Amino acid sequence: MINMAVCDICGAFGSGTLVSAEDMRKAVFKNGFNPFALGIVTNPRTLHNVTFEGWKGIVAQDTSDWNICGGCMPKLGLYLEGKPKPTGVTKATVSISPLVETLAAKEAELKYKPEEPAAKKYCIYCGFQMRVEGIYCPKCGKRQVDVSR
Ligand SMILES: [Zn+2]
Ligand SMILES: [Zn+2]
Repeated sequence: MINMAVCDICGAFGSGTLVSAEDMRKAVFKNGFNPFALGIVTNPRTLHNVTFEGWKGIVAQDTSDWNICGGCMPKLGLYLEGKPKPTGVTKATVSISPLVETLAAKEAELKYKPEEPAAKKYCIYCGFQMRVEGIYCPKCGKRQVDVSR
């Protein structure tokens, strides 16, 4: 979502780092970036909506790169997966109807679900990483005693 050289999050003037819509969606829906909670929304109208819920609908629909200022980038950066990869898309049509927003946000929430931490188990004798359901260590062959309960 590129406004004319305005930060797409806080509304500060100037060109900043371009972040692809896809990276932005991952930051918001998968990794929990919430500029409202972080207090970096100084002008809610910049975000086209006054609530985080509504804004998520915008993020979900947008297909263009986001212009992020030097103030917002370090905060957003913590929620990005690697370096931002702009796509060069500068225009996108986004509906700001509450119904469309809600549907789009719901869809994105499903698509970009936070990952469950991979279940891991290590042999209590030799430390070899093994299947969670494994009873015998494939490396040292010792039977695992469940000490977790
Ligand atoms: Zn900003
Ligand atoms: Zn072992």
